[in-house]
Amino acid sequence: MSGLDNLYREVIMEHYKNPRNKGLVEDSTYKTFRIKNPSCGDDITIQSLVVDGIIKDCRQEGHGCSISMASASVLTEIMIGKTVAEALTVAENYLNMVSNKEYDEALDLEEAEVFSGVRQFPARVKCASIAWVAFKDTLK
Ligand code: ZN
Repeated sequence: MSGLDNLYREVIMEHYKNPRNKGLVEDSTYKTFRIKNPSCGDDITIQSLVVDGIIKDCRQEGHGCSISMASASVLTEIMIGKTVAEALTVAENYLNMVSNKEYDEALDLEEAEVFSGVRQFPARVKCASIAWVAFKDTLK
């Protein structure tokens, strides 16, 4: 177990215990998308508010394993303030990273880098992905 793995695990547990931007809003200007992962019981809803091409707010709600909950929390923190184009690039590369596909390693995935180890655990890839797939769907 390397020190980096330990650090990554700590960040994931910290987000799991103290989730950011949790709780949905009742506001029809937000786009909402919900995804469930039956294999693990994860159930996540993501909301995003886009104004003039910028993600002004991003919310998450749901329940599930630590990886799914932490990845939703990290997602919301990273995406607020990004343009839609930047957000889609980051989300695409994150999803490729956790699925062990080719991705742009030079791109700064910020705190989402902590999920890079997930690619070694195929059963957890969906856990780390669903919030991000739901987020992409809110931008469609
Ligand atoms: Zn899970």
